[in-house]
Amino acid sequence: MRLMDKMLAVSAGILFVLVLVLTLLFALSFRQFSIYTAERHVRSVAEAVKVGLTESMINGTIGKRQQFLARLAGVPGVNQVRVTRGTAVIGQFGPGLPGEGTARDDVKSVLATGKEVFELIDVDGSLVFHAVIPYVASDQGLPNCLQCHAVPAGTVLGAVTVDIPFAEVRRQGIVAVVMISAAVLVAALIALAVLRRMMNPLSQTARTVQEVTSRAVGGDFSGRVRQYSADEVGEIAVNINRLMDFLEREVNTIRTRVGQLMDHRAREGGNQLAHTTELVESLVEASQFKQAIEEDQTKLEIYQRLAGILRDKCHIKRFSIYEVAPSKNRMTAISIDGEVGATCRYCDPQVMVDASFCRARRTGHQVNAVEFPGLCTMFRPASAGDIHICLPINQSGATGCVVQIVGDAGEASLATLMVPFIGIYLREAGPVLEAKRLMEHLRENALRDPMTGLYNRRFLEDYVGALVNSSQRRKSPFSVLMLDLDFFKQVNDIHGHEAGDKVIKTVADLLIRSLRASDMAVRYGGEEFLLVLTDTTAETALRVAEKIRAEIEATKIPLPGGILCKTISIGVSEFPTDADTFWQVVKFADVALYKAKAGGRNRVVRFVPEMWDSEGSY
Ligand code: GH3
Ligand code: MG
Ligand code: MG
Repeated sequence: MRLMDKMLAVSAGILFVLVLVLTLLFALSFRQFSIYTAERHVRSVAEAVKVGLTESMINGTIGKRQQFLARLAGVPGVNQVRVTRGTAVIGQFGPGLPGEGTARDDVKSVLATGKEVFELIDVDGSLVFHAVIPYVASDQGLPNCLQCHAVPAGTVLGAVTVDIPFAEVRRQGIVAVVMISAAVLVAALIALAVLRRMMNPLSQTARTVQEVTSRAVGGDFSGRVRQYSADEVGEIAVNINRLMDFLEREVNTIRTRVGQLMDHRAREGGNQLAHTTELVESLVEASQFKQAIEEDQTKLEIYQRLAGILRDKCHIKRFSIYEVAPSKNRMTAISIDGEVGATCRYCDPQVMVDASFCRARRTGHQVNAVEFPGLCTMFRPASAGDIHICLPINQSGATGCVVQIVGDAGEASLATLMVPFIGIYLREAGPVLEAKRLMEHLRENALRDPMTGLYNRRFLEDYVGALVNSSQRRKSPFSVLMLDLDFFKQVNDIHGHEAGDKVIKTVADLLIRSLRASDMAVRYGGEEFLLVLTDTTAETALRVAEKIRAEIEATKIPLPGGILCKTISIGVSEFPTDADTFWQVVKFADVALYKAKAGGRNRVVRFVPEMWDSEGSY
């Protein structure tokens, strides 16, 4: 029930009760007053009868009393006057005139008790005030009753019955009560109308405030409250409007600014405040994401974190994360549906070898098959109706990575909804990935020999700790091969330095080809190489070394002046069999190499403790 209706109902109820009570009070008062007046009236008539009869007795005209009573009954306002003799009078003077000796029941009781009776009775359909008043003998004054009546004072001599009309009095009373009640009712209605008029601004304001605030709760701040009055209620309207102005302006500003930050067009409709809060939360999460990926050590950790966000936060089940190698125009699948190292699943594999086939990579723009189906011809849907949205990650003006979202037709709207949010993460990830890529590149360069592409000694120094730890933990030996080209100085001397470089590069390439991925080749000196063969005993290492030696011997190196053939000497030692420190094992491989040189070169020599005397010389 509305406030106004409630107030009016309560007020009307109170006023109704008031009118009712007043009407009853008026009616009762009028009745009392009318009866009181009628009593006074009949008493006066009865008194006049007594005085008249007494006078008649004194004057000796008592015999003509009937005439007197008939005239009295003819007085306006008097219906009937009758005298009835009491027992004592009848005993002394007889029954008197006809009717005076016989008494009706009410008169008998008055004669017996001496108590007057007043009552309203109906006579021939007309209301009459009927009174029976006793005539009591008194010895007071002169003349008095006892002079004629032989009775003691206080004896009921008779009764005077007086009837006066009451219908008119009652009618007048009813008319008066009705008029007063009507006046009170009209006053009450006027009061209600005034109350309603006064309450109207409050009620209207309350209703519009309620409407405006409930719209505001729903994120719509465009509602305003009309000012209905210039009082406190009007002030409420003004203040609510000010508040709405402020909220609308500020929320709009926040929304626009956040939208700009996220490069995301503000969504129209819906709960703007909730939407803005959602965007701010996304920004906070993206900022936390950025902080986390900055502290990640490798690019792979970042990609995996990104995959986790796609899967857990964005509820995308199928996706690809590709990394682009710009210098080689190739793409590598980093994570497919969260699986690291899986082969590309949703694109033609051609994009891997020629990244320019990837539309997102080539254009640097989003490729949205939900909006433009069939835009990218490289997409390979797992089933008909599958959609994809490819988002490039920009790194220094070029596409460094591509994130591909895949879904069936039912997932298209979720994917579209998630794109702006994924975009925030990708924008955060771009610079960090680029920094990591640069770092990795710099680190690679710092740890590799530029001429051969082999690791340098610095890398070996960094790598030693992990190598030894791994070997000890797994209780697996590794072997060290120390290699040195034979009579290399002659190459420089005869064919020139460039030819020498070519020989070094040819040998380095051969070494890379001969090794497993877990092994490591280091350019240890000018034409000296160090190989670490993990999980390999010296026995196996000797076979590998012999194979390398034989291959180098068999390699014909074309030079401008003709074909050149070179040989190499190799020393082999084993960790931890020969020594329990890495560098000692290297030293022993070097000792074995020295022995190979000394033994005539172009050979492989396994270190044995006898080569190393107690003084540390060989
Ligand atoms: P040995 O059989 O005893 O090893 O004889 P060798 O001539 O190879 O002697 P040594 O190993 O001492 O010779 C090293 C030479 O390798 C000296 C240097 O001129 C040459 N050299 C070192 N680094 C490079 C390089 O990067 N390029 C070229 N062209 N020559 C290099
Ligand atoms: Mg040398
Ligand atoms: Mg040499």
